[in-house]
Amino acid sequence: MIGKFDPWRSKLCTCPPKLTLNPYTGCDHACVYCYASSYIPKFFKCRPKKDPIPRLKREAAKLKGELISISNSSDPYPSLEAKTGLMRKCLEILSRRHCKIQVVTKSNIVVRDIDLLKKTPSMVTLTITTDNDNISKIIEPKAPSPSKRLKTVETLIKKGIPTSVRIDPIIPFVNDNPENLVETLASIGVKHITSSTYKVKPDSWKRFNVTLPKTAEKLKPFYFEKGERIGRSIYLQKELRLKLMEKVAMLAKKYSIQFGTCREGLSHLNTATCDGSWLIKQK
Ligand code: SF4
Repeated sequence: MIGKFDPWRSKLCTCPPKLTLNPYTGCDHACVYCYASSYIPKFFKCRPKKDPIPRLKREAAKLKGELISISNSSDPYPSLEAKTGLMRKCLEILSRRHCKIQVVTKSNIVVRDIDLLKKTPSMVTLTITTDNDNISKIIEPKAPSPSKRLKTVETLIKKGIPTSVRIDPIIPFVNDNPENLVETLASIGVKHITSSTYKVKPDSWKRFNVTLPKTAEKLKPFYFEKGERIGRSIYLQKELRLKLMEKVAMLAKKYSIQFGTCREGLSHLNTATCDGSWLIKQK
């Protein structure tokens, strides 16, 4: 259940040392750009891990207050969570071990667990790729709408839960001008933004072509002629990534929000620990 975050120690990853936990295998938000679907079979058929609670209890007994990111290859609050309460049970176990918890999600269900998050050193990261509900419906068809996610961020901050936002991924021609979104985030008290660009993997590119064929046509040369292969993904060329990330970094600066890039090789743009975990307050 619990593993090392980034066990391959990617040179592009600037996260602090942390562990990772996925209560579920797969995710039903069905994002077009999802990278995890490239290495997990039947990814969009979300299912709980096998025997999650006994396993987590055994593994958690060995923990000594480490930082645990939940989740990185799935969303810990898929629609199933409203019925199973599995993530809530995981939080109960981990908070008893005094772990520092970073929740990464697109779901408003997280507000249900504010009571537990308040008891433990924790933070929440909401991914909000766009403030346009219509665009989101196309690229993240089964995830809660951006309006719901913004409301969630607002509620979490009002209740005293440190909350950052991932504007991630930025896709040229789709969501590459997040000025309104950043302005809204500043107005509700967000203190940290993380951003990165869309990295093409074969299966996400296939979905992209089906869902947004005209945009895919426009994007094609940027990835397949001018882009660069890094590991198993195709990135946009560095100059373009720099331009896109600088734009978000400048907006963050304009609204006095800390900023971090994710796996871009552009860490000089970071003004704080990239994943926003610096927001976690010790209890
Ligand atoms: S929420 Fe994350 S894990 Fe789930 S489908 Fe979207 S990108 Fe993939």
